[in-house]
Amino acid sequence: MPLSRRALIGLAMNGSLAGLADTAAAQGGGRSAGDSRRGHFRAIVIGSGSGGSVAALRLGRVGVDTLVLERGREWPVAPERPVLGSAHGITDTMFWRRATARWPAMLPVPVRPGTGVMEVSQESGLDIACAAAVGGGSVVYTGVTLAPPRRYFETLYPAGLRYDAFLHTCFPKVRAMLGASTLPGDIYRSAPFTHSRVWDRQVRRASWRTFPLHSTFDWSVIRRELAGGAPLSATVGQSDFGCGNGAKKSLTRSYLPAAVATGHVRLRPHHEVVSLRPRRRGGYLVGVHRLDTDGSVVGERELSCDMLFVAAGTLNTNRLLVAARERGDLPDLSAGIGTGFGDNGDQLNLRSQPLVFHGGSQAAPSASAAFLHHEFALPPLVENWMLPSCEALPAVVSFGVTVDHDHGGRFRYDRAAGRVHLSDWTGDKSAAAASAMHYYSTRVALAKSWLPGNVGGANPSLTIAALAEHALAGIVAAGG
Ligand SMILES: Cc1cc2nc3c(=O)[nH]c(=O)nc-3n(C[C@H](O)[C@H](O)[C@H](O)COP(=O)(O)OP(=O)(O)OC[C@H]3O[C@@H](n4cnc5c(N)ncnc54)[C@H](O)[C@@H]3O)c2cc1C
Repeated sequence: MPLSRRALIGLAMNGSLAGLADTAAAQGGGRSAGDSRRGHFRAIVIGSGSGGSVAALRLGRVGVDTLVLERGREWPVAPERPVLGSAHGITDTMFWRRATARWPAMLPVPVRPGTGVMEVSQESGLDIACAAAVGGGSVVYTGVTLAPPRRYFETLYPAGLRYDAFLHTCFPKVRAMLGASTLPGDIYRSAPFTHSRVWDRQVRRASWRTFPLHSTFDWSVIRRELAGGAPLSATVGQSDFGCGNGAKKSLTRSYLPAAVATGHVRLRPHHEVVSLRPRRRGGYLVGVHRLDTDGSVVGERELSCDMLFVAAGTLNTNRLLVAARERGDLPDLSAGIGTGFGDNGDQLNLRSQPLVFHGGSQAAPSASAAFLHHEFALPPLVENWMLPSCEALPAVVSFGVTVDHDHGGRFRYDRAAGRVHLSDWTGDKSAAAASAMHYYSTRVALAKSWLPGNVGGANPSLTIAALAEHALAGIVAAGG
């Protein structure tokens, strides 16, 4: 009996629909051999991350013939494979075309270059990390699914987007599609989330209100990890290079299968777009390299479309568009393209606390956050986090996303090298965010103990004894 469209989407949403790729294109067979030779599509979407997969579904739903081109591989969920790689087991599947591993707190060991899940691009003054896989960032991210507060959203889009429309329509629609939810109580109380409970206690002691975060981790898989029924991944802090056991509900389980199930959307992994130019009869010509798993180019062709959606992530969208403008292929592109790059105010803050018990390991899902609107020069959102490969250290980690609309970087085209790069990022541009996180951490430390690692210009023993005198005087006066 043929599956109904509703049943097909249901299967896809549960992750049971194996393989999203356009098999005809990948293997020259399958759906129809003619498909792989087709050169024209009504719409082409570049990238299958948050932007691209939503575009694909919405185009497919209204019957638009759409091709999604994705440079990365499709990584099927295999319950027996815990992760695609981590600091504890560095594999060739982790990095995009790199010969050495490069990640915070990870040894720079040699790896075989290939089409791994994470691109780490060493730009001037900054490493930019972004995904390279079917599902884009949703494969490698930490799953936090949080809307910005109204006041900052409205500063960013003063005359354009209406926050209320987002609040009541778009944010809830995306959350529902992704199946985002807050950490259930039984999981929050489990040993790998000890660090989350410590974090909550400390931030509240500093008089800030914490709130639970929506996340796209799959709590049923996490419960299986906790019960010993699934290989360990998210509960031991492994997430940055994907959770192969299905602990993360990536877009390959929501928007992408739903898009393919419309029957109007095809997805071609290992297809890297390298050039964009106008088509004489209208629309665009899209130059594509077909890749092998070692990253080598095994085929080249030019496709065409009437509508083009460039959703290749910040770094690669800028690379494609700035190069197209500067080479004269798309000379009318706005001069604003390539400007206004920001690091989202990202700051990682780690407080070592050898006397506080954190459990044997720290789980990856972020349980809670606090928004500190008024205290510092820049307002940070602070989230309970962990530092991969340091998950067994007695340390509390916060991830700060600081609201900084003043510091931007610019992508430039280097004509001699034929490549686009971030040209002017310096440490100064993230100094304000770093300073906000420093003051936040100091406040938490001061609220936590009377000796936050520095007595302030004296050897410590006298102050320690004096603090004890002070505390005991209060305790004795209160009757013990
Ligand atoms: C380690 C890590 C943790 C993160 N955690 C969070 C979190 O918890 N919450 C959160 O909200 N955000 C998080 N992010 C950020 C989030 O992943 C991104 O903001 C989001 O994925 C961006 O969506 P996008 O569609 O713009 O790009 P992406 O999701 O990056 O998708 C772009 C896609 O385009 C493909 N592509 C690029 N160039 C080409 C080309 N030339 N041809 C064909 N395909 C191409 C890429 O392979 C990729 O799949 C995290 C990011 C990282 C790296």
